[in-house]
Amino acid sequence: MTTLPPPLPKELTQTGGSTDVTIDELFDVITKRIANHPRSLQKAIGPSEVGQACARRLAYQLLGHEERQSGPNWKATVGTAVHAWLERTFGDDNRRMLRDADMERWLIESRVTVGATKTLGKVSGSCDLFDRVTGLVVDWKCIGPSQLRHYKSAGPSEQYRTQAHLYGRGWKLLGYDVSEVCICFLPRNGELRDAYAWHEPWDEQIALRGLERLEGIAATCNMLGDTALAMLPTADVWCINCPFYKAGSTDPAQGCPGHDMPKAADPAPLNFISSTNK
Ligand code: SF4
Repeated sequence: MTTLPPPLPKELTQTGGSTDVTIDELFDVITKRIANHPRSLQKAIGPSEVGQACARRLAYQLLGHEERQSGPNWKATVGTAVHAWLERTFGDDNRRMLRDADMERWLIESRVTVGATKTLGKVSGSCDLFDRVTGLVVDWKCIGPSQLRHYKSAGPSEQYRTQAHLYGRGWKLLGYDVSEVCICFLPRNGELRDAYAWHEPWDEQIALRGLERLEGIAATCNMLGDTALAMLPTADVWCINCPFYKAGSTDPAQGCPGHDMPKAADPAPLNFISSTNK
């Protein structure tokens, strides 16, 4: 039975006080926690962003532009909570296997370096799961119903695909045999039977292409600073949710008007020719 602490002394209690104030305090705890989550504070480009279809969005990050706050990201927090549950679940399964078969099968939430670029140096990230038995790389995605429908019919985005293959490269560089990559789409508000596990053979070239493109964008940003923003190609990727979106902006340095907005002086998109290091 859980041992509970004794009641607080009378002078520290306000029983019968304003519930609305307490509710504000509850949400304050939640929003502060979200704002201080490592994912919210992350600045360096990781494998999950390398394949971002919008080069300009990557450039904003590389140039250190402040993200616009559109309130605490609750959906991402739900995803983080699901990841934490899966981490515990597979950790428990590892302990069971250690007991029964003297072997830990799953490598969970492991930090791997997936490569490097000349301008940025090492690119690292945390891989959700790696199966030591089959060489399968697994990435969990906790998503809403319309996204789930979309990925079931069209397959994962290039961004997700690149991320999975980059993790595969990370494991390969550590000496593991990598066979396939799997993106496991889990319904954020549905039943487990609705989950969709996409997979394909691991292909190092997909990872290398992502790193090469990243290097091209990073080198362009290094060379041109904010001027690069107007020159980099954009993509139609939920601009409304982009932390750099600013409706009607005419100055990319102040915010991006979105992919569909006509650009006054729309230079030809840059080609990214660069070298990629291990
Ligand atoms: S608003 Fe759209 S086009 Fe602009 S940087 Fe963000 S994702 Fe790219």
